[in-house]
Amino acid sequence: MPRIAYVNGRYVRHAAAAVHVEDRGYQLADGVYEVCEIARGFIIDETGHLDRLDRSLRELRMDWPLDRRALQLVMREVVRRNHVVNGLVYLQVTRGVAPRDHAFPTKPVRPALVVTAKRMDPRAAQKKADKGMSVITVPENRWERVDIKTIGLLPNVLARQAAIEAGAQEAWFVDPDGTVKEGASTNAWIVTADGTLVTRPADFGILRGITRGTVMKVADSLGLAVEERTFTVEEAQEAREAFVTSATSLVTPVVSIDGKPVANGHPGSVARSLRDAFFAIAEKSPSC
Ligand code: PMP
Repeated sequence: MPRIAYVNGRYVRHAAAAVHVEDRGYQLADGVYEVCEIARGFIIDETGHLDRLDRSLRELRMDWPLDRRALQLVMREVVRRNHVVNGLVYLQVTRGVAPRDHAFPTKPVRPALVVTAKRMDPRAAQKKADKGMSVITVPENRWERVDIKTIGLLPNVLARQAAIEAGAQEAWFVDPDGTVKEGASTNAWIVTADGTLVTRPADFGILRGITRGTVMKVADSLGLAVEERTFTVEEAQEAREAFVTSATSLVTPVVSIDGKPVANGHPGSVARSLRDAFFAIAEKSPSC
């Protein structure tokens, strides 16, 4: 059964899926994207992801490539054609195809849309969570508008590669004042000695993770306090627990930061409870 991708109105074999060489996403990273988790046949937190897509498009003065309902149907069709029960659906919208020029195209062009889906084994993700991940820190070197989910991810690419080369799995961007921003593709959290969850405010400087928002609701359901404030690398290294959140990693414990173990160097119980309760609280929309 070949993998199928949706590219600008067509369902095509994934191996042969392609965009035009003058797609502005390809040449200028002039586009935005979303990734939704698929779990047990449900699209997780679809409303939040599509609301954020709407915001990203508006911030970049781009139009929706299809209306929202039609895009939801395409997402489901891609999930169905790829037989994804557990995995993810990826969607990318770029400003379209136009002769290369930095300024917006002068003639109206249709935004380009690509949707792909991938099967993933939930046992592999659980294994990673059981083991916990190591993170390194890197200086923040991104632009100020990382609240927009653009496909311009070069600093994130280099940060993740640095992590891999250091034997870690994620890199946290750190501001000059020593406070942690977020990971290359995750939001960063700590648990203080009194059991409060701490994560950076999402007004500026980080992506407002959809999983981050759901984890706040999960924390509430478990009677855990959440404080939105900055925290330093040192505070994270001395915290009771640290963890990251994202649609693909859900809640994954961090067991070391720059080579220093967090607490006893093993995944903590708070991260585990949040992960275990996640599915019950998250929005679940049937994927077919
Ligand atoms: N921060 C960054 C930089 C990301 O790329 C992601 C993943 N999209 C996140 C945070 C987590 O966001 P979400 O929970 O919506 O996947």
